[in-house]
Amino acid sequence: MSKHAQRLVRAVAELADIDALIVTNLVNVRYLTGYTGSNGIVVLSAERAVLVTDFRYQDAVEPLRAVLDVEILDRDIAGQTIERLAEFAPGCATIGFEGSMPYALAERLRVLMPSGSQFVAIDGLIEALRLIKSAPEIAATRHASDILEVVYSNIAQGQLVGRTEVAVAWEIERTIREAGFPALSFEPIVASGAHGALPHAEPRDVAIERGALVVIDIGAQGQSGYCSDCTRTFAAGGAPDSAAAEDYALVLSAQLAGLGAVRAGAIGGSVDATAREVIEAAGAGDLFGHGLGHGTGLEVHEGPTLRKGSEDVLEAGQLVTVEPGVYRPGKWGIRIEDHVVVTASGHEILTGFTKDLVETAG
Ligand code: ZN
Ligand code: ZN
Repeated sequence: MSKHAQRLVRAVAELADIDALIVTNLVNVRYLTGYTGSNGIVVLSAERAVLVTDFRYQDAVEPLRAVLDVEILDRDIAGQTIERLAEFAPGCATIGFEGSMPYALAERLRVLMPSGSQFVAIDGLIEALRLIKSAPEIAATRHASDILEVVYSNIAQGQLVGRTEVAVAWEIERTIREAGFPALSFEPIVASGAHGALPHAEPRDVAIERGALVVIDIGAQGQSGYCSDCTRTFAAGGAPDSAAAEDYALVLSAQLAGLGAVRAGAIGGSVDATAREVIEAAGAGDLFGHGLGHGTGLEVHEGPTLRKGSEDVLEAGQLVTVEPGVYRPGKWGIRIEDHVVVTASGHEILTGFTKDLVETAG
């Protein structure tokens, strides 16, 4: 059975209190069927699995017919899907829809719903299936991680001082795309000096100064959709000042502590706390304002979460990041992020580039 056929079977097995599920989240549609277009809906029940899309995807969806029924409708597929629900989900009275469904669509669903049927918001059903990765999903993520090592090696051996953040970001993007990756997981973050103290800083048309710390957070998305994610912080053109070097050592020890807590059975909130306590013990707790990490997959941010209060239980085969930071307003930012596979006894790191502070030559 193909992987998509298997996923559809697993999804149907999870329907429980509902007879059918309307899947409108395009990432979930992709996960279930392999469809990568921008206008697709899956209607799933024990009786039938149907992918609805429009004529623009007529040829692209032909191979998907081996896995489920495909209906090509006019471009406004949502209203028609609802009008033809009795046909797409035969005999189904209780029909689930995803809580992320756009409000306008939910309104039409309410107006057009067949009499006698009941609609129920169902959250996270497909997302839960996506949490644990198969060997091919992990291999695809590993492939998307390998290119990041090439990027970081180029940066370590190249020039940062005097180049603008946008120029460095563009070179990163070009390297990833020329290696055959159709997309990035997100726009590269290249943030030097005080700008690095903003965790989601956008690259500026500003030259990087000698001695500045430069936060470089990057990810590649492969052909099959799996995202990598890694951060390293470099010292541009030589050693940073000693207080910055001390903060770097602090973030690294917190990162190693967090990594050491990752294993099947660990609670997301506890893994976060293990790393956070290291930074708090140094009196810098207020300077680490975000969660420790997140799951990845077809999206760069998905479950499980590693942050304060998270009750998510890690399981073998999940992909998570461990990325503490210290952000000193007006001075510098430091973040070190590894992307790992959770295993029964610990973790396996996907991003092998050194975590020692790399000082570039120029
Ligand atoms: Zn990142
Ligand atoms: Zn991340």
